[in-house]
Amino acid sequence: MENTTKKVVTRFAPSPTGFMHVGGVRTAIFAYLWARKNNGTFILRIEDTDKEREVEGSIEHIIKSLKWFGLDWDEGPDIGGPNAPYKQSERLDSYQKYAKILLEKGFAYADPYTEDEVEVFRKKAEEEKRPFLYREHRPDLSAQAGNPPTWDGSKPLRFKVPEIKRYEWEDLVFGHLSAGEEALDDFILIKSDGYPTYNFAHIIDDLEMGVTHVMRGQEFISSTPKFLSLYDALGIERPHLVTLPPIMGKDGKKKLGKRDGAKDVLEYDDDGYLPEAMINFLSFLGWNPGGEKEIYSKKELIEAFDISRIGHSGAMWNDDKLDWVNKEYIKMLSEGEKESYIFEWLPKELQIKKLVPIITERISKGSDIKTMIEAGELDFFYKEPVYEKEKLIYKDTDKEIIISNLKNALEVITMTEEENYNKENLKTLLMELADSLENRGQILHPLRFALSGLDKSPDPFILADILGKEETIKRINKAISNLSS
Ligand code: GLU
Repeated sequence: MENTTKKVVTRFAPSPTGFMHVGGVRTAIFAYLWARKNNGTFILRIEDTDKEREVEGSIEHIIKSLKWFGLDWDEGPDIGGPNAPYKQSERLDSYQKYAKILLEKGFAYADPYTEDEVEVFRKKAEEEKRPFLYREHRPDLSAQAGNPPTWDGSKPLRFKVPEIKRYEWEDLVFGHLSAGEEALDDFILIKSDGYPTYNFAHIIDDLEMGVTHVMRGQEFISSTPKFLSLYDALGIERPHLVTLPPIMGKDGKKKLGKRDGAKDVLEYDDDGYLPEAMINFLSFLGWNPGGEKEIYSKKELIEAFDISRIGHSGAMWNDDKLDWVNKEYIKMLSEGEKESYIFEWLPKELQIKKLVPIITERISKGSDIKTMIEAGELDFFYKEPVYEKEKLIYKDTDKEIIISNLKNALEVITMTEEENYNKENLKTLLMELADSLENRGQILHPLRFALSGLDKSPDPFILADILGKEETIKRINKAISNLSS
């Protein structure tokens, strides 16, 4: 548990600029787990101040995605809360308030240059192969009207860095970090369209919302000195900074790209991944509780989660691992849940209880059923198999032996009473026959093939059970006559 008297408050603060991908959700999960572990508050805040990049429908999409994962928040745009509103575009008054405070303290000024003029400075720095620093062009502030200087909003409001110095800070994951003076600049606080920049808005929001732990990706480290200088200018306490390691693509070299897993998270729903499995899998990207155990329920994750065990190095995405985790979660479903899960992927004529265990065994996710159907692996159930009769022969067994084995199997099956006709009994009876042979395959193979016509299929007793007595007898008879012709 966090060793302070302050209530832990974390937030997930996405920008509505498109769909959510797994990186975003992993950030949300960590912030969620930390808040829940500490009986704290988890806030959803929408950072929608960049109107040009905003994509319509993203906010709804973000909310839908987080809900699918079962991550519930205590305060947010859809449910309100003591620090409402939770959309930055609706919090402009707060930014104005703090802009005024900074103006009064002499830490803000109206940008006198036009965009084109700033562009000229930028180009020049580029030509001279120096980093562009706006503060090198800081106007003579004593020349600005008023004391403190006034700002009518028609020009961007810039931050005046209080002190150009080297900044050092502690990141709860990355440890001691520092950056030189070049990382500081007079960045824009409020643009001329009246909206704040991310750099300014998130600091004000975190302050007003009492955020204690800021969890976000590595891309924000380089801007951290700017944030720190703003905390200093406002005279406010810094929250704990918790930088999360990147999620790397399968090759481990590049950040996860669209081709690997950085797709819309709801596509995982479409593919039949279970949200609990996804949370389990994503939690282990960059964090692990130690030990061998890999399957953790959400409750167990909350108990086990600890910032001190978040790693620095990139966490590698692994589809096979995700499939394995998902399969484990499918196995944990109750019989009824398994049935509805599997049936969702089956056409009406294949929605048969007996198929559920054999399908469950063969898949890691719902969409594998689609693949099975497309590959014809379930055809045996409703279509009489079509095959080359030679395939009924096991290795170089004599054809007559195969025929006689199939006849023996047929007899055993025919003699089995309907009430005893199930896979367990069939297994006992047929294995007895198989064990009396030189090789079990001499009966099990032709039988399996006669029933399924597939190179790979479940065991013959399972097939016989699913197909029912009548159909099973029909298919064995057909195989015998095929071989005899
Ligand atoms: N709005 C930022 C983003 O979506 C969030 C960064 C933060 O959590 O502070 O990247």
